[in-house]
Amino acid sequence: MSKQNSPILVVEDEPGIAELLRFTLAAAGFSVDVADNAQAARAALANALPQAVLLDWMLPDVPGITLLREWRNCARTAALPIIMLTAKGLDEDKVRGLNAGADDYVTKPFSPRELVARINAVLRRQSLLLATAEQSVGAITLDDERHLVLVHGVTVELGPAEFKLLRFMMGHAERVFSRAQLLDQVWGDHAFLEERTVDVHIMRLRKSLGASADCIKTIRGVGYMLNTDIPG
Ligand code: CA
Repeated sequence: MSKQNSPILVVEDEPGIAELLRFTLAAAGFSVDVADNAQAARAALANALPQAVLLDWMLPDVPGITLLREWRNCARTAALPIIMLTAKGLDEDKVRGLNAGADDYVTKPFSPRELVARINAVLRRQSLLLATAEQSVGAITLDDERHLVLVHGVTVELGPAEFKLLRFMMGHAERVFSRAQLLDQVWGDHAFLEERTVDVHIMRLRKSLGASADCIKTIRGVGYMLNTDIPG
């Protein structure tokens, strides 16, 4: 797994921070492209997919979270590793970013070492997921390449967080995970997210899965498990 394959795209309008990021990532062995506004970022992605994106929230033309939503809603970029990078430290903003499909979230001022560790963690999760592009459990099929979930061959609409949750659980069927473990695996290491966040997304996921919802078992006092032995 060569870090040189494709660059990390840094979307950041402040020249000093962009330069610091370029230096930090280059020192860690990554190649780096910088886009200093949303238009340039869109053009860079249209040209070639980067290995990952570091996306600033406050850009001069379009908010970073708008770009994030745009890319998550496009099949080509739906699974692109994206880390939000921002001065906004409010938990509600972090939750908004993660629920819009960000893979992780780093607050400025950042520690270069922590930033690199987070990028590596996101890329590691990504490479594990890419190893299994399509998986099926019972009537449910998840196609990672096309970012689609089908139940009995019919596409169901899932939010980005529900998609990631289902993808993780399908990849680890018949194993019980606590809410804290699911937060860690699906949302990244974020102590500020409450465990009931998991319950909310499990509820939405079950609703979307309709007749196949029973595959997601609540294990009382422990957490959740995806059961492969399901009728629906
Ligand atoms: Ca900015």
